[in-house]
Amino acid sequence: MPIHLLSPELASQIAAGEVVERPASVVKELLENALDAGAGQVRIEVVEGGRASIRVADNGAGIPAAEVQLAFERHATSKIDSVDDLARVSSLGFRGEALASIASVSHLTCVTRARDEEVGSRLRLEGSQLVEHKSIGAPAGTLMTVEHLFYNVPARLKFLKSVSTERRHIDTLVTRYAMAYPDVRFHLSHDGRLAFQTHGSSSLHDVLIAIYGAETAQQLLPVSNRDEPDNTCVVSGYVSLPALTRANRNELTFFVNGRWVQDRSIAYAVIQAYHTMLQVNRYPLCSLHIELPPEELDVNVHPAKSEVRFRNSDAVFRAVQKTVRQALIGEQIEIERSDREREGDRGGDRDRDRERQLRLRALDVYAPSRVPAVEPGLEQAAGGSQALPAVDLDAGRPPAGPGALSPTAALPPLRVVGQIDTTYIVAEGPAGLYLVDQHAAHERVLYEQFMGQLEGMQLAVQHLLNPLPIELTPIAVSLIEEKRELLARVGFELESFGGNTFLLRSVPAVLARSDLRQVINDVLAELDAGEMPLASSQEARLVRRVCKQAAIKAGQVLSTQEMQELIRQLEKCVAPRTCPHGRPTMIHLSHEQLARQFGRH
Ligand code: ADP
Ligand code: MG
Repeated sequence: MPIHLLSPELASQIAAGEVVERPASVVKELLENALDAGAGQVRIEVVEGGRASIRVADNGAGIPAAEVQLAFERHATSKIDSVDDLARVSSLGFRGEALASIASVSHLTCVTRARDEEVGSRLRLEGSQLVEHKSIGAPAGTLMTVEHLFYNVPARLKFLKSVSTERRHIDTLVTRYAMAYPDVRFHLSHDGRLAFQTHGSSSLHDVLIAIYGAETAQQLLPVSNRDEPDNTCVVSGYVSLPALTRANRNELTFFVNGRWVQDRSIAYAVIQAYHTMLQVNRYPLCSLHIELPPEELDVNVHPAKSEVRFRNSDAVFRAVQKTVRQALIGEQIEIERSDREREGDRGGDRDRDRERQLRLRALDVYAPSRVPAVEPGLEQAAGGSQALPAVDLDAGRPPAGPGALSPTAALPPLRVVGQIDTTYIVAEGPAGLYLVDQHAAHERVLYEQFMGQLEGMQLAVQHLLNPLPIELTPIAVSLIEEKRELLARVGFELESFGGNTFLLRSVPAVLARSDLRQVINDVLAELDAGEMPLASSQEARLVRRVCKQAAIKAGQVLSTQEMQELIRQLEKCVAPRTCPHGRPTMIHLSHEQLARQFGRH
């Protein structure tokens, strides 16, 4: 092919690909325009996850009739005019690309009236072609309707995920903007059904109630360092009490100068602030706003990216960590104080010492200048497929690998000797000493029983006498709708109870005695943790999660009988030497090794 210029139509579609990747990108751009226009109310109506149509209505400034056609040209903006403006841009958009991009890959209708004009305009574009432009009466503000998205870009259309996945992307996006703009009323519906709305009361806590439900929002603690003198990095918002956790980091939400950002180092600062208050592999929730003078950060990164560059990232890290830690410690002091008061104790010197100590701990911040690539002890290898071989130090046995037995090597009969550290069972076998991790071992036992029941289609299900109402986030609601069948297959029966509330009717029998709200949240986090192509691998993953929840915990005192029963069940397992997540269930010390260690050889 000789060198030639691309047709304007093709060039514009290629450029559009940068801005409009999926329906949620359209929602993002239209929403940002509405917010930039000073809207106090934004209504978003989505049909079929945005494939059929996306409608965003706002009561903002509107577009003057004389300018409205220009708004759809590439590089047309009312938000900056010079390079200097760029350095202190405070609007969400400024490139003048979004409307042109969206219009080039859809059918777009715009109805708008500027607040100070009498008459409004209606424009219709089909793949960038203007097909209608007339004056009409309209309320002040703007209504954009985008239909047939990607109708002329079949490659993109094919790339779109299921309706529910696209819906979830939109839900996640809108909830973030709602947190960033508590003074704006948001209304989001899917296929005519309300998914989420806020009241524009200016209170972030009200927004969090709308997102998480009142029950969860009650366990969120306000944090702020606004009152500190000479403060250049203002941190404010809400963090969860240590008892409210999630299995992943998805609910750690951050905004920098009103923009949602993704930043591993800030997330790490928050997690560090909880240190020793959280269980391993549990993460807090938060919605934190960070405000910095504009010159402290670079916003000119790509608009589709959610990263941010801080001039002084260490200072931000420390401010976040300290603010969160102080709030958590302050809460702890409050709780201890009110406990004492309830017991009629006035508080002596010892209590004051303890308080002083706690306050010191609040200041004891950890500020690594770099975040480790993998947080020690927080990341775990997932997937039984990469199962590690059990640690087996017995050199005398025929090894499967060097010095290791295959995870499926059978167990000899073991005699329970006792429990140490309320975590490990000490047992003896013909070949020496075994230390068994009670949690990992129980996980393995439950996993094999569960999978066996699933295969034999005889799953033990516990029907709840009193169905348990559970309030969920809009994202979780979409997830349940999408995975309802999968959840039912493993024993979770959830029934919609209006709004974002579900009734939990049944659970797998192994979970009968667990904290079921926590279980549901964990299970949903697991499902949300990535796209899994195979239904069977989804199922196994879900079952692994359930078993982890149901298994005996470290720290639980076991009777000899209970230990014997557990070991007996472990002996029956196909792969007794690893837990379903691939970690070892036991350490084996052979007679030879013991003898060697004691210098008997
Ligand atoms: P940008 O937001 O980067 O300026 P866009 O292509 O998104 O570029 O929008 C172009 C222009 O159209 C904006 O600068 C603004 O003047 C106008 N505009 C778009 N949407 C709205 C809206 N909802 N209300 C008022 N004006 C709008
Ligand atoms: Mg814009």
